[in-house]
Amino acid sequence: MPRALITGITGQDGQYLAELLHGKGYDVFGLVKGQNNPRGVLLQEELPFVEVVSGDLQDLLSLVAALEYAQPDEIYNLGAMSFVALSFRQSELTANVTGLGVLRMLEAMRMVGGTDNPMRFYQASSSEMFGKVRETPQSERTPFYPRSPYGVAKVFGHDITVNYRDSYGLYACSGILFNHESPRRGMEFVTRKVTNAVARIKLGLQHELALGSLDPHRDWGFAGDYVEAMWLMLQQDEPDDFVVATGETHSVREFVELAFRAAGIEDWQRYVRQDERFMRPAEVDLLVGDASKARSLLGWKPRMGFEELVTTMVAHDLDQERQRSTRSR
Ligand code: NAP
Repeated sequence: MPRALITGITGQDGQYLAELLHGKGYDVFGLVKGQNNPRGVLLQEELPFVEVVSGDLQDLLSLVAALEYAQPDEIYNLGAMSFVALSFRQSELTANVTGLGVLRMLEAMRMVGGTDNPMRFYQASSSEMFGKVRETPQSERTPFYPRSPYGVAKVFGHDITVNYRDSYGLYACSGILFNHESPRRGMEFVTRKVTNAVARIKLGLQHELALGSLDPHRDWGFAGDYVEAMWLMLQQDEPDDFVVATGETHSVREFVELAFRAAGIEDWQRYVRQDERFMRPAEVDLLVGDASKARSLLGWKPRMGFEELVTTMVAHDLDQERQRSTRSR
């Protein structure tokens, strides 16, 4: 059986990827940080087939030990401080985990894999690297101009992945993924914050939704589709980098409007308040990806469209909030 180690296994993508690989017959190992991480406990309940390995992207020796133990054929480095807003407040930690963590994992791979390294490495790069975009749509050839400490750290992670591939002949790929969401998205991210608030407003549990700017445009896809692209990248003869995106862009305002409509609320403006606290010091205005390389070389294309994504998330959050309020009665 092939073996895979996933960092960031407790996050949105880690869970979808673990399910995908398990379905393909992989032995799945997941790196979990901390000594009693509550998300690690939940993971073992939800995905009991995952073997948890302790480790932290800030600690090289823990990564070496994890690789020695798991002996993976494939390493998926999804672990990161991934919330852009927090990266402005915890920039040093973001650089350490999201940026230097990639270097540590590549070094661990070199140490454990030796010469003729059999392991394959995937780096979770991000459309936030394009930031103040130099061209539209953005492709693998578009220059980077990150607009947050998160974006800057991701550029380092991307470049060091390419550099280690060129310098040491590692099989290392970087997937430049545009935003992707799901009912598993963390509550801190704007999409999930919106769908959860909409569900709570519908049920009378909440009365307003405070947001930053409604103007930014993003290329939003479904996380379940995007993890398939990660796997496909590591199945090619040669390592390479790919943009993964839908090619459509929508504003936060459109997302909000559609989410309220999915819950049967038309007068959404009544509930939404703009709040300075959620504005970013430097904003990324427009992202839209050109995934034609992934389409032609990987045969990948997204299955779920924008409207289905939003309505699925709202339906899930309505269910979840209903169950919660029934339990608390
Ligand atoms: P997520 O839900 O925020 O998950 C982040 C994961 O990283 C969590 O499992 C977290 O563990 C782990 N982590 C944080 N600090 C760590 C450390 N010091 N050592 C080891 N693990 C650590 O992110 P996601 O949405 O699944 O995204 C997966 C990856 O793709 C991330 O690298 C993200 O930056 C990148 N990406 C995401 C998107 C998107 O739209 N979702 C787009 C482009 C790129 P804990 O649970 O223990 O904190």
